[in-house]
Amino acid sequence: MSTEVSPEVPDFANLGLIEPLMRAIADTGYTEPTPIQHQAIPLVLDGGDLLAAAQTGTGKTAGFTLPLLQRLTEANKGKPRPGVPRCLILTPTRELASQIDASAQTYSKYVNIKTEVIFGGVSINRQISALRKPVDILIATPGRLLDLVGQKFIDLSQIDILVLDEADRMLDMGFIHDMKRIIKLLPKERQTLLFSATFSNDIRALAKTMLKQPREVSVARRNTASELVDQSVYLVDKPKKRALLSTLIKEKQWSQVLVFTKTKHGANRLAMQLGKDGIQADAIHGNKSQSARTRALDSFKNGRLQVLVATDIAARGIDIKYLPNVVNYELPHVSEDYVHRIGRTGRAGSEGQAISLVDADEMKLLRSIERLINRDIPKVELEGHTGHDIPASAPEKKTPSKKRPRSRQNRGPNSGSDHRGGARPNSAAPRANQRRQSRGRG
Ligand code: AMP
Repeated sequence: MSTEVSPEVPDFANLGLIEPLMRAIADTGYTEPTPIQHQAIPLVLDGGDLLAAAQTGTGKTAGFTLPLLQRLTEANKGKPRPGVPRCLILTPTRELASQIDASAQTYSKYVNIKTEVIFGGVSINRQISALRKPVDILIATPGRLLDLVGQKFIDLSQIDILVLDEADRMLDMGFIHDMKRIIKLLPKERQTLLFSATFSNDIRALAKTMLKQPREVSVARRNTASELVDQSVYLVDKPKKRALLSTLIKEKQWSQVLVFTKTKHGANRLAMQLGKDGIQADAIHGNKSQSARTRALDSFKNGRLQVLVATDIAARGIDIKYLPNVVNYELPHVSEDYVHRIGRTGRAGSEGQAISLVDADEMKLLRSIERLINRDIPKVELEGHTGHDIPASAPEKKTPSKKRPRSRQNRGPNSGSDHRGGARPNSAAPRANQRRQSRGRG
């Protein structure tokens, strides 16, 4: 078996993929493999286990789907059987499952491989009838899979390849016991591929129990390094956030914007309020039925819906080509989620803009995000809308937290820095922020 797995030139022609897959790739218009594809495809074709650090947006789906389609095609095990897949792709959310399914359909156009997808939140009966058709690749969320295995509609004893996609998310979402139960149902002799945004200790521990001498690949977090995502912050009091958002959407004539809120309730309320402002908006979150989520996502994807308001879980892995704008209406509590959120834009070579509306209570979160991404995010003002009581980046310890009245005192002379998109030329960054910028931290 070859161990020469990393051809120097990132070219699909160098990866060892068969002609029908190359043709499907050519149809997509991709010109060269992404770093994760360049590294992972030869390793997976080689047959060994793989531990890959790559998040959504890196092209990881094609990174595992293409080589596994090839392995299944070449194994030539005869006709697929109903309910007896040879490859299982486990993924945390319904949206991700649907997206992997769409990718698998795209790449399997010219090979004879059958794919089925199952996830919770929709009628199980439709999935049961779908499972009466022969299947090679089963894409599933853990809960629904166990349900259908329990009811004997699925037999996992013939699995040759297991993919754990977004394994860190599956752990975060509490799927560990389901995952362990599923693993016990699989043959010990199999190829296992584990994809995760990070290699935390938990992921390493999981990998130890599930993978055999895995090769490791890791690609840079796309969006901390990405020059494509233009990030900025508007400092704004909480009650003024909605008016600012409506103004930005209207003034900048954003065609499409994905807005993140912290809570499901907040997502609903904001979508409703934007509607009252004459902006077409809908919300997706875990409390909505699957059909409502799919409907909203579809209208957003095909451009009928201008604003989609989402919580982190609902938005995980949403794959929308050329999404130009992401707004953090509220900052996430976990800084890494900021990176996930802004990763929804600036994908696959297109430019994107990520804007965060930050109130005084969120300054600590903002600082920890800036520490994580190792840079200051430019602060932008919009006269009449922005500014709040606490200076933008007061030194963390020295300044007593005395609140100043919200007035011109908080403002310094125009720094001449970033007036991107809608910031009025005569607007001014808060003085403290300028101090930090001139100190050039980060
Ligand atoms: P993923 O990380 O798998 O969610 O993929 C992110 C996006 O990148 C998807 O929209 C893919 O269609 C796109 N993509 C995947 N591979 C490539 C490639 N080699 N060149 C350009 N775009 C790609």
